[in-house]
Amino acid sequence: MTETPAAEFEHRCREAGVHTVEVAAPDTQGHLRGKRVPIDRFFATTVDTGVNIADAMFVFDMQNDLPDNPYINMDSGFLDCKLVPDVSTGRIFSHRPGYAIVFADAVEPHGEPHPNAPRGVLAAQVERCRAQGLDPVVATELEFYLCTPDWQPVQEHIQYSSLTDALELEDCLRDMRAALLGAGLEVESSNAEYGPGQIEINVGHADAMTAADNTVLLKSIVKQVAVQHGMRATFMPKPFFEQSGSGMHVHTSLRADGANAFADSDGAPNEVMSHWIAGLLDHAPALGLLGYPTANGVKRVQPYTFAPTHVVWGGDNRTVLARCVIEPGSPANRVEYRAAGADANAYLMIAGILAAGTDGIERQLDPGPMSVGDMYTNPGDAAPLPNTLPDCIAAYESSALAEQLGAQFSEVYVCAARHEDALGSEHAPDAEAVNDWERERYAEQC
Ligand code: MG
Repeated sequence: MTETPAAEFEHRCREAGVHTVEVAAPDTQGHLRGKRVPIDRFFATTVDTGVNIADAMFVFDMQNDLPDNPYINMDSGFLDCKLVPDVSTGRIFSHRPGYAIVFADAVEPHGEPHPNAPRGVLAAQVERCRAQGLDPVVATELEFYLCTPDWQPVQEHIQYSSLTDALELEDCLRDMRAALLGAGLEVESSNAEYGPGQIEINVGHADAMTAADNTVLLKSIVKQVAVQHGMRATFMPKPFFEQSGSGMHVHTSLRADGANAFADSDGAPNEVMSHWIAGLLDHAPALGLLGYPTANGVKRVQPYTFAPTHVVWGGDNRTVLARCVIEPGSPANRVEYRAAGADANAYLMIAGILAAGTDGIERQLDPGPMSVGDMYTNPGDAAPLPNTLPDCIAAYESSALAEQLGAQFSEVYVCAARHEDALGSEHAPDAEAVNDWERERYAEQC
């Protein structure tokens, strides 16, 4: 007899000596919130009943202030919603022995999905894609800075991908890789990135929801292991103006009939891949707000930094927005969307990319010719990506993408962005610098 998913998870927890299960849901910033539940209670009741939590979690800014919005506010009374665990997502932590985590979906009192819950926003777009017979496969690629406890980089020099330099950091990085593997992420590799103390850790691809769950887990675990080593890690998109920003590149492909639907590209994208790329480009301005939700995020949009500045697609070219692997007959063919900062909420960014790509397929859009060469110096007449928060807000508001992600969700999201913009304009008005106020606001939280 096969075990139910709950029995299977309980079995694994008991065997590992778990005493506490964390019931977790990502908030609008991609921060994991929820409750810690003793293991006996979790499997006796919580596994079915879920836990209650204030729906304020979906309107919090990074510092738990509550920007005004028309739906979740003092008048509505900040209702409880329920986090209902999906035990098939259960993981056991090796870096915090005795703890397990399970992702949960937020539902309203009558059992409807909460319109502002990022997992729900993503689930709807996965369904939309699957309705076309296409199953999205996703990997995210995150960069971060390792810092001292007062948020200075742990190094002053850059040694990209060096295996000789910075051995003193390797104990910590080894423990990060081990902790991620322990939590069920398929770690592929880690390397020093092109910034002092900047690191990238790559993990394998998965279905879209698992990839998003893995992304928030990666950020949470990396931060916790850094603290265990007396350091700090930040996914702030532009912590130091003169240095590389930290991005979250999102790779997507689609499975149809058990195979990669982009596989028969032959140096040029096949039809479905062309439409997918075209959808991403068409919605790129609106996707900007999901990728750069703060005034710090847009500062990453700088030429010659390997972050994209224009709406262009290409092959293996680090100066474009959509970098495509289009090898003849390759099952690894995919589109790498390079705009988002490492602070972007992975659920929302992936949901936006799926919505944009699906729309490209539905409307059979054409991406235009492939861009070749340096797209910073020679972008031709390609549209620039929005690089101020007000421009991102304007491009998102009233866009087809905002509608597709949900009217209430989008309205609240725009309220949050306006609040960030007002704070940024007051405290960090210089677009060509990153100041201490920004590091204080974002370094710990991103
Ligand atoms: Mg990188």
